Formats: sequence, structure tokens, C-alpha cells
Amino acid sequence: MHDNKHELKVLMLDGTTGFYRVQRYRVGDFFGPVDLGIHLAFKHNALTIGAGLLAGSVFPGSNRLIFAGISPCWHGFYVSSMGGAALIFDNLGINMLSLIGKAPHPSLLYLNRNHGEEIEVELVPVVPERIWDQGRKGVYAVMEHAIHLFGPRYEKDPRALAVGPAARDSDFGAIGSAPVKKGELTHVDTWAGRGGFGSKLFQEHGLVGIIYGGTHIDEDFRDRSVADQWFQDKFNQRMAAKDMEVTTKYRYDPKFNTGGTFGVNYAAMDGDILAFNYRTIYWSQEARRDLHERFILNHYLKQFNQETIQTKQQRNCGEPCAAVCKKMHGRFKKDYEPYQTMGPLCGIFGQRRAEQLNHHADRLGFDAISVGGTLAWLMDCLDDGLITPQELGVDRVPKWEVANFDVVGDSMHNAELGMALLDQMTQPGGNIPLQFGARKFARRLAREKGKQVLDRFVYNAFARQGWMVPNQYWTPGAYAPMAITGKYYMHYGRDFLPPRELGRENARRMLKELMLDNLGICRFHRAWAETLIPDIMENIFGEKDAFLNSLNMTASRITSRNASVFWESERNMDMVFTFLKNKKETDGVSHPEIDRWIDFFTRDRHAAAYEFWYEIHKGIHEMLREYPV
Ligand code: SF4
Repeated sequence: MHDNKHELKVLMLDGTTGFYRVQRYRVGDFFGPVDLGIHLAFKHNALTIGAGLLAGSVFPGSNRLIFAGISPCWHGFYVSSMGGAALIFDNLGINMLSLIGKAPHPSLLYLNRNHGEEIEVELVPVVPERIWDQGRKGVYAVMEHAIHLFGPRYEKDPRALAVGPAARDSDFGAIGSAPVKKGELTHVDTWAGRGGFGSKLFQEHGLVGIIYGGTHIDEDFRDRSVADQWFQDKFNQRMAAKDMEVTTKYRYDPKFNTGGTFGVNYAAMDGDILAFNYRTIYWSQEARRDLHERFILNHYLKQFNQETIQTKQQRNCGEPCAAVCKKMHGRFKKDYEPYQTMGPLCGIFGQRRAEQLNHHADRLGFDAISVGGTLAWLMDCLDDGLITPQELGVDRVPKWEVANFDVVGDSMHNAELGMALLDQMTQPGGNIPLQFGARKFARRLAREKGKQVLDRFVYNAFARQGWMVPNQYWTPGAYAPMAITGKYYMHYGRDFLPPRELGRENARRMLKELMLDNLGICRFHRAWAETLIPDIMENIFGEKDAFLNSLNMTASRITSRNASVFWESERNMDMVFTFLKNKKETDGVSHPEIDRWIDFFTRDRHAAAYEFWYEIHKGIHEMLREYPV
């Protein structure tokens, strides 16, 4: 909310000329960075970065910074977000920044607003390679450099967004940022990783980073007693109490004696563990359970619990949030998905080694999930001799021998290989060129070496070149042909749903998640937010119906350009087939549809996979259209 509650103020900046102006949109026509972002993306190929209407308000989790535009790696419209970063963005007195055009030289963008005056905007040319090599290196060095250069000009601590070499050398570079406290960069890094908006910022707009902040205070909704009343009416609880309840998993869950996505997911997954580039899906339940118990419960998770949970090393993302979901060990922040793809998926089961590999990827500024999936795939090919180490510019094959796996030594060996592969992705003349993405690279390798190379690579495909490593859950929802994949615009529960129904459920989830993203609300608060937001929009803006309508329109707009491509790799198909078998044989699910699908997959895997994929697709499309079927 800003000076005028019923307006969205967007700073439009053309990097080519440096020309900028503030454009206003009526709340009611647009509501936030997603619905306005898609409008500007299709009109100008803009990258829109912005806060939701509730940023700066009393609602917990309302300060995510949202990034929206055409993704360089997915090749469709995409939405990515970063925790807490909108709290300081709100001090600029605008709702969004929309970038078009490319700065003639790589630059840092400086935005400041001091005491109600106009926003100061400066584009300062820099030499990225020189900065990436300084201090904490890569992404972190860009933040440090920006703070060093511009920090003294801010009255209150600013925040900086930054990219690393991955933004230059790949299509899936992330944008990173850590809160600044008393002029110092903290270690609690937050990421807009998915969708490669770091690559977009660097390659299409010529920016290495953006530093922003100010003193502007606007009329955000801060009436706690009124908010409490709305919570009371809906949940019979006050706001803080309800929020504490719904964020238990992310803080500390006594059911599992751990907390955060890393702790709770690993504690709860049991035989659903995914390791060694998903090879575990072919194992028996006993073997998977054994791996989970020996390497995860007794080592990887145990270390995490001792080092992070028991010592209460937990922080927030930059906004005062009771979930304190950022689980730290010194300077390393632990989330499930990066520590899964650059952990067990690569044959790494120790915290020290996972920290090393994750930190290397973070410094370089990769989307951690996608790069972890790519590393695991390359290691799989190396292990089976489909590619030689020399061809990838490295000196070894991974140690993936499960029977005699040395959890310390072999994890170290694999982490070192992972780091060497990362270097090949970002060194000039490196052997793993990912400028046009890993799918294109896989396709090239498959032409030279045979399709089995591509068949090991687990990714979702969009249009001709778009790709995305799926979320790390063994469930068909993660492989569903949604117009946006790789985030939680889908049903990722472990239960079996017939594919047509799965498609519909994905669509329902997408609508809810879009609502959160368009308002910049952190999804970890979704258990109250999804229920209450329509009423909040009514109570504050008087726009509930228009808000909900616009959500449907936005979802149908995104879905009308759904260019998802049927699973290209055999392992994608196997993820679904083994999921079905596992549900029946291990979990004892009894459903006529599951029997029918298993039978179909057993008779003709490709035909069944194709049919399954299309059934999900039908379910999605019948829901996400202006007039649902
Ligand atoms: S749950 Fe975590 S990411 Fe979300 S607002 Fe709270 S601290 Fe930030």
C-alpha cells in the first residue's frame, strides 16, 4: 500500500537509455507484480520486480519480493520470489520496478528515496569479472561491492540483489540477496532461484545487481487489533497465535524433533528418498529404507539436528517472522531442495561436503535445484561410462558404489567432482557450455553418444528449448505439464490421484499459489493466507470479486501459452511408473485406476506415459480457462 491505496506505482526503467518514469495503474485493473508482470512481459519483454499490496503491513510473511517475466531457461512466463526483500523495497514508495532494454555496459543499479523526495536512480558501469573475484566472491562480492559503494548514501540499511558468473554463462542464473544489518552483509542469503532471472537481469538488461532502500513511510495497513479481529472471526484465534500454529513445520516440529524444510522433509520421507540421480526409484523399499536410515537419519539429518536445530541457529529472511525458517550452520543456510539435489542426488550424505558444493554453486549464482539436478545427471553418465571425465574436463568418475559406500570419504570425492563440474560450466572455454541450457546440451550429447545420455536426465520440457529440474518429490505432480513448473504450482502430495484429477488439483493449487505470489505473501504462511486473503482484499480495498476474477484471468492467460512438451527422457517416465507401483505394492493403495495404469505401463510404457501425461494436461486445461469446462 502506498500514498494512494488504490494505485500501483511502477518505476519503468529503460536500461538502453537510462530513461525512467513512474507509471500508475489502478488497483482493480491490476493487483500486483504477477498480473501486471505478465502484461508488461508480453508487451515489452519486461522483467518486473516488485512488492505485493500488503508489503509493510502487519500481516506476517507479506514481504516477499516477486520477479516476473519471460524466463530465459523455461522459455515461458515465470514467477520467482525472494523472502523478506520487499520490506526495504517498500521504503522506495513504489510497488514495482519494471526493466526493459539493456544497459550498454554491465552496471549496478542504484535506487534510493530520501524523505519523500523523488527516487534517485543511477546506473553505474562496473566490470563484473573484477567484482566476482573479490572478497566473498561471486554473488556475495556483488552485494558487498554495492554496499561498500553506496551504503553511506542510505539513512537506513539498504538491500542488494546480485548475480554471479552463472548469469553470464548459463540460462539459469539466480538472483541472490542477504539482509544487511548495521551496514554489514549477513549470511542469511535468500534467492529468486527458479526461472533464471539472474541470467535475464544480466544478459537482457545488463545489470549485475540492484541496490535499493530509503526512508519513505507510507500508509501500510498496521492496525493489529483490526487484523486480530479478522483472524478471530475466521479461525477463532488471534493473528500471532494462528501464524505460530501454521508455521510449526518451518520453525520446529516436535513430531519430528526437527524443523525447517530440510529437517522435516528428511525426517518424514522414509523410503521415498531420492538419491544417485533418482536411481533409488528402481530399488526395493527395504533398500531405500536402509539408505534413509543409515545415511540420512543416522548421519546427514543427525548432523543437521545437532549443529543447527539443537543450537537454535535460525533466522528470518529479513522481515520479522516467527517462523524463522532460515536454518543456519555458521555461514551456510540449509534448505531441503538445494541440499537434496547437491546432496543425496549427487551421492553426498555429509553436511560439510554438501555445504562446500552448495556454497560453490551459490557463489557462482546458479539456480541451485536446476544445477544440482544437472550435476547428478552428469555424474550418473560418468558412473556408467556414457561420458568420459576428459570429455567434461574433470579428472574422475563419481563414487556411487552403494554396497561399500563410505559416507565421509565418498561424499567428499563426489562433492569435489561436483565443484569441478561447476567450474567447467563457468570457465571460459569450459567443457560444459550451458548458455542455452542443459536440455540443449543433453540433446547435443545424445546426438554424439546416443539417446541413453538424455534418458538419464530428469527435467520438465517446455517449447523447443525450455527446461526445468523438477522439485524433489517422488510424485507425478512435479512432472505435470503445467505452464509453470519447478515451483509449487501443482499438487506435490504423495497420495495417488488419477491423472485427470491430478491435473485439476494442480490447477486449483496454481490459483492459490498465484494469489500468494501476486500479493507477495510467503507460502509458508499459506494455511491462513489462502483462506483469509480474499476477505482482506475486500476489507482494505473493496475489491474481492475483481481480485478473484483477475486471478482466474491471469491463470488462464499463463495457461493459454502452455507449451509443455511430453516427457523426453525415459527416467521421467520411470519416475511416474515407479511411483504408481510403489503406491500399490508398498503403500498398499487400492484403487481401480492405479491397477489399470500399472497394467498399461507394464504392457506399453511409452503409450501409457503419453496417455497419463495427456490426462493431466486435460485436467489442467479444463480448469484454467476463462470458462472452466
Ligand atoms: S517463513 Fe521464512 S521466508 Fe517466509 S517470511 Fe518467514 S522467515 Fe521469511
